[in-house]
Amino acid sequence: MIGDVHVHSKYSTDSDAEMEDSVIQAVGLGLSYLCFTDHIDYDFPYENVSFEFDVEEYLRSIHGLQEKYGGRIRILAGVELGMQPHLGPRYRQLLKDYPFDFAIGSQHLVGNQDPFYPETFEGKSDSEVYRAYFEELLANIKLFHEFDTLGHLDYIVRYGRHKARAYSYRQYADVIDEILKFAVRSNLAIEINTAGLRKQLGFANPHPDVLKRYRELGGTLVTIGSDAHKVHALGFALDTAREILRNCGFTHTVYYERRKPVFVKL
Ligand SMILES: [Zn+2]
Ligand SMILES: [Zn+2]
Repeated sequence: MIGDVHVHSKYSTDSDAEMEDSVIQAVGLGLSYLCFTDHIDYDFPYENVSFEFDVEEYLRSIHGLQEKYGGRIRILAGVELGMQPHLGPRYRQLLKDYPFDFAIGSQHLVGNQDPFYPETFEGKSDSEVYRAYFEELLANIKLFHEFDTLGHLDYIVRYGRHKARAYSYRQYADVIDEILKFAVRSNLAIEINTAGLRKQLGFANPHPDVLKRYRELGGTLVTIGSDAHKVHALGFALDTAREILRNCGFTHTVYYERRKPVFVKL
């Protein structure tokens, strides 16, 4: 059985999930591995909003669960890093200072705004914002790419006024191809994130056309995650993700242990 390598707990500002409840849920689902990936988004550009946590306490909690449940499931310690142009040096230091198994690099902002807030789209068309998002993502990964997988590549589409109406791979192929080529060259995995299915977007992020293109360009590393912020969402649609990946020509998924890929047959 595959596992879920994008899971949030109460160490993330936007989740109350108890880690132990998540582990029990994952064991109940029969998952082989589970990686916690709580949010660190340094310098989040909103007053009174901070996505940071005490990493030592976090790693201690995970270690305790490994001791208790290690016979039943592999529990891994990851982190989801929110990219901004100036943060590379801080994230490099963080990954050097702590023994994370796995790091996701995610673009959560566009024009220094969180697209979760509708103001981000004020006075702009969806397609303008989507394009700006992909361009910022590309610029950011060129500056910092010492993570393992690129999180929810077309995440911005979840928040557009008309969601996928202004979106297809082809419409942004020029910039998405640059992102994918860079990922292949840098040995970066990309993630299939099933939250898009949960949020009625109609597809997991990124769209299968993007996954197929990554495969075409020589990419072989794909991680699978639910991006659960609540215990009941853990493991959501993993079988669907597996099916999508098979249809896109992948034979394996990967998870990371001590920052090294472990291949699991789909
Ligand atoms: Zn994210
Ligand atoms: Zn996440």
